[in-house]
Amino acid sequence: MALYKALRRKRDKTTSLGGWIITVIGLLATILVTNEIIEKNRKEDKIRIDYEIANILRRTQGRMDRYVATLLQVRAFIMNTERINPEVLNQYISDSEIQDRLPGIQGIGVTLFTNKNRKGEFEKEWRKFYPEFKIWPDTPERELYSAIVFLSPNDWRNRKALGYDMWSEPIRREAMEMARDKNEAALTHKVVLVQEKLGEALPGLNLYVPLFRKNTALMSDADKKKAILGYVYAPFRAQILFKAIFSEYDMIMDVEIYDGETLSPVNLIYDHDPQVPKTNASISKTIDIYGRKLTFLFTRMPKFRPANDGLKALWVLVFGFISTLLIGSVWFLTRRQMRIASIMAAENERMLKKEKEHVAARDEFLSIASHELKTPLTSLKLQAQVMLRAINRQDPNVYSPERIMGLIKQIDTQTTRLTRLVDDMLDLSRIRTGKLRIEKRPVELAEMVIDVVERLRPQFVERIGEIPRVKIEKNSVGDWDKFRIEQVLTNLLTNALKYGNDRPVDVIIAGDDKMAKVIVRDYGIGIAKENVSKIFERFERAGISASEVSGLGLGLFITRQIIRSHGGTIDVESEIGKGSTFTVSLPLEKHEYYRDQVL
Ligand code: ADP
Repeated sequence: MALYKALRRKRDKTTSLGGWIITVIGLLATILVTNEIIEKNRKEDKIRIDYEIANILRRTQGRMDRYVATLLQVRAFIMNTERINPEVLNQYISDSEIQDRLPGIQGIGVTLFTNKNRKGEFEKEWRKFYPEFKIWPDTPERELYSAIVFLSPNDWRNRKALGYDMWSEPIRREAMEMARDKNEAALTHKVVLVQEKLGEALPGLNLYVPLFRKNTALMSDADKKKAILGYVYAPFRAQILFKAIFSEYDMIMDVEIYDGETLSPVNLIYDHDPQVPKTNASISKTIDIYGRKLTFLFTRMPKFRPANDGLKALWVLVFGFISTLLIGSVWFLTRRQMRIASIMAAENERMLKKEKEHVAARDEFLSIASHELKTPLTSLKLQAQVMLRAINRQDPNVYSPERIMGLIKQIDTQTTRLTRLVDDMLDLSRIRTGKLRIEKRPVELAEMVIDVVERLRPQFVERIGEIPRVKIEKNSVGDWDKFRIEQVLTNLLTNALKYGNDRPVDVIIAGDDKMAKVIVRDYGIGIAKENVSKIFERFERAGISASEVSGLGLGLFITRQIIRSHGGTIDVESEIGKGSTFTVSLPLEKHEYYRDQVL
């Protein structure tokens, strides 16, 4: 505890500041690095996503270009073949292995225009190739018809489409007009292919390339309208088309494709993985494919492992924080150890000094004690020798009552002095071994003080001609050890006599309901300020030598121990040359803790 307090006291500001600076810089660095990592990972993720999106769009665009190229190739074949008929065309297409090379295409077809006057003849002509050929729907009657006259492969599904007038259907017609007017390939909006079974209604797309009469100028729209014979076209089922485009490729982004720019379910033509719901983070991109705007909506697939998954950054953060705290703790601990070491060294030094002082005080005590013991003994021995010599000389005066009285008085004084010295030493050893017993009984303070004063009457009268003047301000009855408190009073009064410059001594009995006070005041030599705190220590004599005033330097030490064991205090006020005032305060309540306490 003492060490802890010393540590707190000693913790200098710069040491703490150093530790805090290290910790704060470490934590800031950790936050900066974590932030940097998050930022870097975010950028990395963005690059991956941007690349993926660009890749998907490029693939879609590229595949559509290849379909258009194929349609142009078929158109060229048709235009440059003398006797073109479905069989030859079918053969050409199958030889071109278009289906294998460009999966996703539903077929390649040709549609030709006829008008209402030539409709019957047209149908008749084509029945040569398809016995049941008929333009449909045939009602209501229209000016211009465009009938599918060829669709490869010639399977049951495609055969269903033969004779269908695509010009009659507004969505297809719009794309057909666009292809004609621009003399370019054109893609329809979302349609339902005529090949589909009723009710299936899967979204489809048609891609048209215009077929013009050969060697005709195509400058104006009117030229084009005049020269248009029909179209080479390709029907697609959107689901199959886009699946084919994306199938060879492991996508990390899900894609939904919408016809136009509005992302509503009616416009949805393709959903790569319906399990992946679109989110706020989904990214949309619109591209133009042969006159048609398609909007792609990209969403991260669950298998997309973001570089910025938070975990890496979290690890860095945790690791950085822990390391910083560790470094900070090591700094503080090392500093603390150093401080402990320096405090311990100071403490050892202090103890050593105290020990030295103690040894010196003890040595001095021994010399004082021997001196103190020897003085009365020498005096007794001298008296005995004088008496012996007188007896040997057969001096008759030796037996005179005055002489014998004087001798007995001397013996009494010296033995009293010896007894006091021995008693003090015994008390010291009792205090040291914890055997100073306090036995409390009710005691009346004034009575006890007067008793002690009376007992000391001979010494006082002999030395200063009067006994201490006792003034009773407030008398009390306390629960104290009478013998020990008498010892305290004797001590204080004897000191007042010893150090009182032969001046009168005052004793005041005072106090209140809680405390009884005895004040012993002398007007003697006083005590120097620097010695006031020392005089209650063992063997301390406040600069007084044994030859000046006799004493062991134990009285006040024992006094204080006795008063403390009663729960009281002793204070001193003093001024050199003016005298000292000792105030003893004793509690009046019963202090269980101090009752019969063994010290
Ligand atoms: P002793 O009197 O045997 O030396 P004490 O313990 O009674 O030992 O006193 C310790 C020291 O305190 C004394 O040596 C003396 O220097 C000082 N002292 C005690 N009482 C007084 C007093 N009334 N006036 C001046 N000095 C005193």
